[in-house]
Formats: sequence, structure tokens, C-alpha cells
Amino acid sequence: MKKATKVLALILAMAMMACTLVACGSSADTTATNTEAAATETADTEAAATETADTEAAAETEDAAADTEEAAPAEGGTITFGTNAEFPPFEYVTANGVIGEYDGIDMALAKQIAEENGMTAAIENIEFDSLLVALQNGQIDAVIAGMTVTDERKEAVDFSIPYYTATQVMIVKEDSDIAKAADMADKKICVVQGYTGEVCVNEMGYPYEAFKKGTEAVMELVNGKCDVVVIDSATAAKYVADNEGLKIVEDPDAFASEEYAIAVKKGNTELLDKINKVVEAKLADGTIADLAVQYSEATVEE
Ligand code: GLN
Repeated sequence: MKKATKVLALILAMAMMACTLVACGSSADTTATNTEAAATETADTEAAATETADTEAAAETEDAAADTEEAAPAEGGTITFGTNAEFPPFEYVTANGVIGEYDGIDMALAKQIAEENGMTAAIENIEFDSLLVALQNGQIDAVIAGMTVTDERKEAVDFSIPYYTATQVMIVKEDSDIAKAADMADKKICVVQGYTGEVCVNEMGYPYEAFKKGTEAVMELVNGKCDVVVIDSATAAKYVADNEGLKIVEDPDAFASEEYAIAVKKGNTELLDKINKVVEAKLADGTIADLAVQYSEATVEE
């Protein structure tokens, strides 16, 4: 790897990890349920983020992105979406998926984005932590992975219109006495590496164990080896439905709302416009809301 690429990979890895006020903290002004409110909220936190951001690193990221600028896939071509298919109901591997072996809300949306632009969708299944690097390297054209928009990630990539609002929640055993985030103080906490859930718990200052996959963290909980898993709401609901004896505990004062969006390489407005056009239409006509219901109820056939 060239030095510049290594530096870029490091910056991106840090960006993936870094938290923002969008993901954690008080919900007093973060109950956004629409894009406009979310945008205002982001603007509020942007100044703080800019102040603390390593501006040198950010400049280098942009330089590197400019060096490898590529044209957006053209009509008749393929859009290669990167995802991490370990995040039901958004993306998972199944016998008969909507794109090959991949299925879920994001996969259905990716297919529609490609098709409505006269193209085909392909999926690259890679580790969540590596998605933004793969985007910068040109290995993939876009990231669709239930990815939360954060100020740090925005330093590295451009995001589409948000298409889903989520929040971090706690999954606990049914008989657990955890009723709010502060109750995790003396408990064993499990998270998934690189997810916003890890960032939030880290910010709260609690020790935790990070797993590669959500299923691994949930298995620790089921087996009594940890007391609580902090993870995104819709995914938590899926795990609770699929495993006996678990429940969800919410704490909106501790976990603010998050917006999921699709990422493209910085400056790739051509592809971003193609994506936004379809996302906007599918939000307006209720398709995305329908997909959310459909896939939240679906059982995964392995
Ligand atoms: N929304 C979380 C994040 O962006 C988790 C996403 C995922 O695991 N696919 O970090």
C-alpha cells in the first residue's frame, strides 16, 4: 500500500469510529423525524465538529479522493454497492435474495435505484469498518449499509438524502433490571465493532466488549456472558423476535435519533443525483416505509 493510501485508510477508519452529537447525547433537540429537522440538527453540530476535526487530515482525504475521481456508472452499466450483510432487516444473506444471495430493505432499495436509472445493482459484501475505504479505493460505487450519517463520516464521503430514522437501543434479558442507559454502569456491555452503538457506549465512558457481528454480541447475551447489547433499533427488534427471552429497553435521553443514508465518493454528484432521485421518489410514495414493514416481519431462510 502506498503511504498516502495507508494514511487515507487510517483516517477513514477513524472517521468510521468517531462519534458525533447526531448519534449520542441528549435528545432535547434531536427528535428529528424528517430531513429538514435532521438537516438543522446537523448544521447545529457542524461547527463543533469542524473545530475539533483534524483539518490537515481532512484535506488529505479530499486530495486523495480527487486523485482517484471516477465517472459515475452510466446507463446500461452496473452500480456496485458495498454493504455488510450482517444487519437484518437492512441486509443479510439468504437462500433467495432480491440481489443474488442478498436481501433486506437496503438491498431492495439498491436494486430499485439501479433499475430506475436503467442499470443493474451488484453487491460487494465487506466488513463494515472497511466500507468507506473500499469506496475511496473505487472498489465499490456506493455504500448502502444502514449507515448513520455522522459529521466525521461526512468529512470522508458524500451522503444521499436520509431514508430511515433509527436510534440506539439496549437489548437485555427479559428479567433484567436495566431500565435506562445509566443502569449499564456496572454491567457487562456488548457492542458491534465500528457501529455507532460502540461510539455511544465509548462516549458514555463505560467499558465494553466489541464483537465483529451483531449475532455474536446477541449470542453472548443469550448465553448470559453479557448483560446488555447496544445496537440500532430495527436490528434489535429483529434479534429480539428471533431469540427467546430478550427485550428492548429504550432511553431517548441517552440515545438521540440517527439518519441512515447512502454514501458515495466525495464529489461524485452524478451518481449521488441518480441515487437521490430514486430515494426521494421512494420516500414520497411510501415504498421505503412498505419495505421496512415487509422486511421487519420477514423470516430469514438460510
Ligand atoms: N447504523 C450503525 C452505524 O452506522 C450500524 C450500521 C451497520 O451495522 N450496518 O454505525
